[in-house]
Amino acid sequence: MESKKIWLSIAHMGGLEQQYIQDAFNSNWIAPLGPNVTGFEKDLENFLEGCNVVALSAGTAALHLALVQLGVGAGDEVICQSFTFSASANPIVYQGATPVFVDSEPDTWNMSPELLEKAILDRKLKTRKYPKAIIVVDLYGMPAKMDEILTIASRYDIPVIEDAAEALGSEYNGRKCGTFGEYGVLSFNGNKIITTSGGGALICKTAEQARQITFLATQAKENKPYYHHERIGYNYRLSNICAGIGRGQMEIFPRLLSRRREIHALYTELLADVRGIKVMHSEDEKFNCNYWLTCITVDSKISGVTANDIRIHLDSVNIESRLLWKPLHMQPVFELYPAYTNRTSERIFNKGLCLPSSPALSDEDIKRVVKELKNIYLS
Ligand SMILES: *Cc1c(COP(=O)(O)O)cnc(C)c1O
Repeated sequence: MESKKIWLSIAHMGGLEQQYIQDAFNSNWIAPLGPNVTGFEKDLENFLEGCNVVALSAGTAALHLALVQLGVGAGDEVICQSFTFSASANPIVYQGATPVFVDSEPDTWNMSPELLEKAILDRKLKTRKYPKAIIVVDLYGMPAKMDEILTIASRYDIPVIEDAAEALGSEYNGRKCGTFGEYGVLSFNGNKIITTSGGGALICKTAEQARQITFLATQAKENKPYYHHERIGYNYRLSNICAGIGRGQMEIFPRLLSRRREIHALYTELLADVRGIKVMHSEDEKFNCNYWLTCITVDSKISGVTANDIRIHLDSVNIESRLLWKPLHMQPVFELYPAYTNRTSERIFNKGLCLPSSPALSDEDIKRVVKELKNIYLS
């Protein structure tokens, strides 16, 4: 008999989501904006403490508007972490600017502060100006080395955008991820920590920044009785229906977060004695990861199998796993852009695998994944 399909990361609804959607229908707030959008923004602001949040149609839209608001355009360069999903860098190209990729350090898998500074200085030498912004990512929920990165960024007066699309609930030094840069980005895509079916948010430092972003996200319509435009606008606001899902998700968010962490702890325990496999984690308590996805690295010289062998086997028994993000400097679409590399992301990419981490998975499900993973060693 076919065993139940185990997915990598799927949404888990608490039940209240439908109530908020029903409220929207009852009050005929089907149009974009409305009480759920404001309510969802308040929920996120309460959680993140001391910032201003604008709910948008996607994390990609949030990144795009942050770049627009920072004045990034043709002729500018923007430094971007290479080890990430393509959406971190695409908006740089939307703006006609040039992405400059920076490789990772092995502790967090995120941007190497050393290489960042080297890249900044080299770009200044080559183009006679500093990059216009820095996009740093908290990959798989693991916080980047923010102290070091922010120190370097402020030394050259370059604003930082923190792509925390995967890191809602993570903390660095006791402070919430997404709140470190000039702007922070969240995603509520279907597979992220919480979902609105599709959506995102931009975390701003000031109410004035949030007002500007909201203005740009609603077609840059000036306050006049007719449609009057002085800037190019975007249609990037989250709908009131989707925000209703977000409000319901925020009510069960503590449970969703603790379950992801429990799943990581269980994998760590069950995989401890498997040769050649390491579960990604941080030794340092300063880095408090949400463990959006539990990632492993496979040393095939010791294990005799590769990460991809494991993926193929798991797939054959109805378990979805996924190779890591392929570094952007290795992607055909980005390969002509400047890159500062040390081979760290390439090495990790070649041996890494994301294991099923959906919060609805039971301990039995996780044990089945590990049992199947061990089976491949025997076959
Ligand atoms: C998901 C994701 C995004 C994009 O968010 P969307 O809501 O899908 O547009 C950006 N960066 C990273 C690191 C992501 O994982």
